[in-house]
Amino acid sequence: LSTGDLIEPHRISVCVRKRPLNKQEVAKKEIDVVSVPGKGTLLVHEPKQKVDLTKYLENQIFHFDYSFDESATNDLVYKFTAKPLVQSIFDGGMATCFAYGQTGSGKTHTMGGNFTGKQQNSAKGVYALAAQDVFTYLNHRRYTNLDLSVYVSFFEIYNGKVYDLLNKKAKLRVLEDDRQQVQVVGLEEVYVSSTEDVIKIIQMGSACRTSGQTSANANSSRSHAILQIVLRRNDRATTLHGKFSLVDLAGNERGTDVSSNDRGTLVETAEINRSLLALKECIRSLGMNSDHIPFRMSTLTKVLRDSFIGEKSRTCMIAMVSPGMTSCEYTMNTLRYADRVKEL
Ligand code: ADP
Ligand code: MG
Repeated sequence: LSTGDLIEPHRISVCVRKRPLNKQEVAKKEIDVVSVPGKGTLLVHEPKQKVDLTKYLENQIFHFDYSFDESATNDLVYKFTAKPLVQSIFDGGMATCFAYGQTGSGKTHTMGGNFTGKQQNSAKGVYALAAQDVFTYLNHRRYTNLDLSVYVSFFEIYNGKVYDLLNKKAKLRVLEDDRQQVQVVGLEEVYVSSTEDVIKIIQMGSACRTSGQTSANANSSRSHAILQIVLRRNDRATTLHGKFSLVDLAGNERGTDVSSNDRGTLVETAEINRSLLALKECIRSLGMNSDHIPFRMSTLTKVLRDSFIGEKSRTCMIAMVSPGMTSCEYTMNTLRYADRVKEL
């Protein structure tokens, strides 16, 4: 992919990213069943069995706006997914980028990046790359007269409850007023003046996300994490100008593995399924320009209500897939879901 391949973003763009096989998978001789033959295509070689029990691979082909193979960097993925949406928040719109897929497929790697290693520069994920562009735009001649400031909030939704990752996982209430405006009451919004500020917040919030078992979960793959980059006017009321919501969704694996009949886990799984179904319905309504957006179906879609309304709303989804044959069923589920949210 090169910059020349960049298409004007439509309201909803849907992309897919395949991660490389990891060391353990290579050691276990896991077979790579996913390939990316063209710019927007992705092929799954799905293992099947005939009635006489002979095995064969059936090719399943999918088409998206862009498809990224295992050699793609976070930078490249960002350039074709979230980057084109940054301008829309300066133009007063709401932008949203979702990372969707099974646990271990690369959602957090793509969104949060990886700051534990030495190479801090190549470590940036969509969160930090988007923040970087926001500050570039902020100082652009075209936008300086808007007199805007940048704020960040970071929270998690677990079992339908909101927890503030910038305030020790304080449990927050979601309220809807009579004008259908949705508010997360008491959510911290931190003023930021540089990309470094935002990276510090990402690190702090991410550490908070995976720590502590008292109020929320210990397993971060069962919750949705939402980083919001908020533009406000420097007026008395610090009026909202635009908002970019970057969402690291909970793992979409179903409770197909019935080995777990622990009630807590079942409730958790049911809640995740409900919110991902709600998300699909809301994005589809946005794509169909429907007047009725079923955002009340889940806490996730409630807090993202603004993302699904308004002429200037832009959404992109990055569907993450693991390459291995043993993940094939999950990969197919992910791709079918992503296929359904494409604009009609
Ligand atoms: P998820 O958040 O979807 O559960 P992670 O982002 O935590 O998955 O990824 C699982 C593991 O795979 C992590 O160790 C991560 O660093 C690694 N990984 C994911 N995507 C890539 C990639 N594109 N390149 C290299 N490593 C990756
Ligand atoms: Mg994760």
